[in-house]
Amino acid sequence: MPRVFNFSPGPATLPEPVLRQAADEMLDWQGSGMSVMEMSHRGPEFMSIFARAQALARELLGIPQGYTLLFMQGGAIGENAIVPMNLIGRTGRADYVVTGGWSQKSLEEAARYGAVRTAASSEAAGFVSVPPQDAWQLDPGAAYVHICSNETIGGVQFHWTPETGDVPLVADMSSDIMSRPVDVSRYGLIYAGAQKNLGPAGVTLVIVRDDLLGHALPICPSAFNYAVQAEAGSMYNTPPTYAIYIAGLVFEHIQRQGGLAAMAAHNRAKAAVLYDYLDESRFFQNRVAREARSLMNVPFHLRDPALDAQFLAGAQARGLVQLKGHRVAGGMRASLYNAMPIEGVQALVAYMKDFEARNR
Ligand code: PMP
Repeated sequence: MPRVFNFSPGPATLPEPVLRQAADEMLDWQGSGMSVMEMSHRGPEFMSIFARAQALARELLGIPQGYTLLFMQGGAIGENAIVPMNLIGRTGRADYVVTGGWSQKSLEEAARYGAVRTAASSEAAGFVSVPPQDAWQLDPGAAYVHICSNETIGGVQFHWTPETGDVPLVADMSSDIMSRPVDVSRYGLIYAGAQKNLGPAGVTLVIVRDDLLGHALPICPSAFNYAVQAEAGSMYNTPPTYAIYIAGLVFEHIQRQGGLAAMAAHNRAKAAVLYDYLDESRFFQNRVAREARSLMNVPFHLRDPALDAQFLAGAQARGLVQLKGHRVAGGMRASLYNAMPIEGVQALVAYMKDFEARNR
């Protein structure tokens, strides 16, 4: 059975060389006589895997001195609570910029831990854009400002970094981390679930500026306290060892391909293949404002939704899978993370052209 082109929003396609290496090392990791899954997290073998993954992530993302990188658990939805439990205590207030379903969910969860405000929202127009910075009403007394850099459902992405003055900027980068270079120094905190660009589900990357550590609310569980985890080198509790191992292999793969600048060029080229076709088609449509289009998740609708099921069945038959849009958005969505080859996007567009010609 050949591998399909998997357009899933996550868990998502992984680089084939990574999967092959993991398969080769499954029963015996580098002469240890053990699978990585069977290793003590404090043993020398896993400690070397962990240190390498951490060093590569720091190098690829250009994480400066003064920032701690943590491998945590609980996913990005867990972080929706973990972030306010750790950060909101400084002033009791936080601002949220709402650009779609994920940032809305972040705001709702944070409201359990302090006074949260919507500083800007693009909901009125249907979440198809990022509100311009001059429309944001920021609270200078907020403990932080939260954004979602890429809305996975709506396909809306920030292509600029907000300026929030002395108020730390916090970003959910679950669906675009390591897809392009990022200036970490502009952020107070970045978090991301792994299962789109980094590896398997189960590990969450957190990058936190050190001066933000140590303000957790008393109710914050120790395993979710950034300061406690920083002190313990992400090993206050047993970390998700296998997920970290695979993420480390993905980091090596990204580095071999030229790092995040190379990823960005590759992702721009791939997305252009699909958006260029959507722009010329009168049969398929993407509704997102041009300057906020996501390079990672491309939602599109058929002009006639009655053809949706037929479109999906035909795609599946060609090995183009997981194209059904999110249940709240309807239509289709093609997720084009780092590991999706351009050939996958070309095959999708060839199918769409063919489908359009047959059904026009
Ligand atoms: N934020 C964003 C931007 C996401 O795409 C997702 C997952 N699709 C989440 C949060 C939730 O992640 P998890 O289910 O891993 O907690």
